[in-house]
Amino acid sequence: MFDQKVLDEFETAAGREGTSGARLDRLTTLGCGGPAAILMEIDSPEELASVLAVASANSIDWFVLGYGSNLLVADSGWDGLVIRLSGELKECVVQEEGRLECGAGAALTRAASAAAAAGLSGLEPLAGIPGTIGGAVAMNAGAWGTEIGNIIGRVLVCLPGECRELSAGDMRFSYRHCELPEGSVIARVTLALDYDEPDNIREATAGFSGRRSEAQPTGERTCGSVFRNPPEGPRAGELLDSSGCKGLERGGAMVTEAHANFIANRGGATATDIVWLMDECRRRVYDQAGIVLEPEVRFLGDISLEPL
Ligand SMILES: Cc1cc2nc3c(=O)[nH]c(=O)nc-3n(C[C@H](O)[C@H](O)[C@H](O)COP(=O)(O)OP(=O)(O)OC[C@H]3O[C@@H](n4cnc5c(N)ncnc54)[C@H](O)[C@@H]3O)c2cc1C
Repeated sequence: MFDQKVLDEFETAAGREGTSGARLDRLTTLGCGGPAAILMEIDSPEELASVLAVASANSIDWFVLGYGSNLLVADSGWDGLVIRLSGELKECVVQEEGRLECGAGAALTRAASAAAAAGLSGLEPLAGIPGTIGGAVAMNAGAWGTEIGNIIGRVLVCLPGECRELSAGDMRFSYRHCELPEGSVIARVTLALDYDEPDNIREATAGFSGRRSEAQPTGERTCGSVFRNPPEGPRAGELLDSSGCKGLERGGAMVTEAHANFIANRGGATATDIVWLMDECRRRVYDQAGIVLEPEVRFLGDISLEPL
């Protein structure tokens, strides 16, 4: 827990009160894990830079949370500051020359509808990803052969006491990864899109959404793909399926029948249950195929996988 002086500094920097002991299970799609010491909502790049400066001056660990759709929080929670983006950092504004500027806290679905309404094409394959624009850029989220890194114009990142613009080239996007300056948070993202008819864009988005419902579990609490695809050879889902992982259960968690690379919280699952299933799945794939699967889901707090 933070002392009152540090809490006051954070609240002054953010211009609003923080929440002590914030429940993170309510802020992740998996719906499990313990609380954060403090959660601050931040409304602007300037306040974000100020909050990061307070964290840096007091040596406080922080974590930026989007929609928690690629996150597993430890059952013991996180003894640090969790930052969420709000206010103008959730807005999307259409600009000239096919540009759409979004606060990094805006939902991808919101950005995709704003783009479609303005006749801007490029986000259709990604529209069904249940994260924020900031989370999507940090993860270089992708679907159906498109990655968000392909449509980045520029990105505003904030560090302690300053904000800085980056180009897509600066960020060296690769599979589910991009390079950000150490200790920075993405505040705003400008997407470079192409013009098309709004009806064509909406039709394409609906097509991708239909394909997604056929390929993945729907209506389940998951974090998307649990493991990364290996650099070559079969995809993680195929390896897990052929190693007999579908249907494995532990506590309230289960490897889904619809897709072997998805673990669902069927009710009351703990992070410990999910980690147990991840260990079991990795061990089975290693025993059968000699391949070590690496997690795609990010961990927050005291979580580690068994070494193979
Ligand atoms: C049903 C389902 C389907 C999914 N399908 C896909 C898919 O098709 N393709 C795909 O790639 N992913 C998919 N995912 C995973 C997930 O939605 C994406 O990785 C998404 O981009 C994560 O965004 P988020 O806002 O939820 O990030 P979070 O889960 O909150 O955070 C993920 C990481 O991003 C970092 N981060 C978040 N915001 C920022 C920021 N502003 N600045 C810097 N770092 C930040 C966090 O610190 C963390 O390390 C799916 C998930 C679910 C639940």
